[in-house]
Amino acid sequence: MERKTHKVLGYNVDLLTFDEAVEVIIDKIKNNEGTQIVTINPEMIETAEQNAEFSEVLKNAELVVPDSSGIELALRLKGIKQERIPGVDISKKLIEICAELNYPIALIGSKEEVINAVREKLKSEFNKLEISYYRNGYFSIEEDDEIIKELANANPKYILIALGAPKQEMFIKKCREKLPDSVYIGVGGSFDVWAGTVSRAPELYKTFRCEWIYRTLKQPQRIKRIYKTLPMFLFKVIIEAVKEKINLCKGI
Ligand code: UDP
Repeated sequence: MERKTHKVLGYNVDLLTFDEAVEVIIDKIKNNEGTQIVTINPEMIETAEQNAEFSEVLKNAELVVPDSSGIELALRLKGIKQERIPGVDISKKLIEICAELNYPIALIGSKEEVINAVREKLKSEFNKLEISYYRNGYFSIEEDDEIIKELANANPKYILIALGAPKQEMFIKKCREKLPDSVYIGVGGSFDVWAGTVSRAPELYKTFRCEWIYRTLKQPQRIKRIYKTLPMFLFKVIIEAVKEKINLCKGI
């Protein structure tokens, strides 16, 4: 399938449905087509504006799915109707398919008790699942090389990294140098959700695209992050959408 994208503040976002994204990614896993999947949100874009290396990683990712309502809204302002593809859902669906196809996976990130709980839960949910490597996400940069060596020896086809952005995306970049043919996804706090230490927003919040409000109420430390990035992101997106409309009218 040919890649169809639209830029939000200079960053590509793939335009596809949840099912299409699953199909594209499974194809890549099957064909050992090394891939970095980014589950993009406004905070990541704002961080990338201050961090050139992270910005490069986002721009070079083979697939960028709109994880947040902020990105969905940004595209809507530009006249594009794109459904939100939550990283927590798509990453789990891919685990289910990897289990069916006997493709080994790896899990890196979160606290020790969380990763252990996730491993147990996934093994009981998908009994054919092979987790060829897993470890918690609390390690120093000096340990990176050793961990990446262990990961490469385990040779998983699908690798989930939960260190939060931008740490996870930068770690994936490093892993890809040693293990280039795997498919990687940065999943933020998904392991906490699967382990049950963080709860998912009720349906009502999802319907009104307000999952982020629920997450902020549950984890008030997020307020600082959102307050610092969201207003500026929305302001820039509105300007960009207006400029695009003017250019469209001018026929540029
Ligand atoms: N984390 C980690 N190592 C670190 C920092 C964070 O494993 O050095 C984990 C943390 O335990 C949590 C996840 O990374 O499970 C980040 O979750 P957060 O909700 O901040 O990510 P977001 O979904 O907002 O990107």
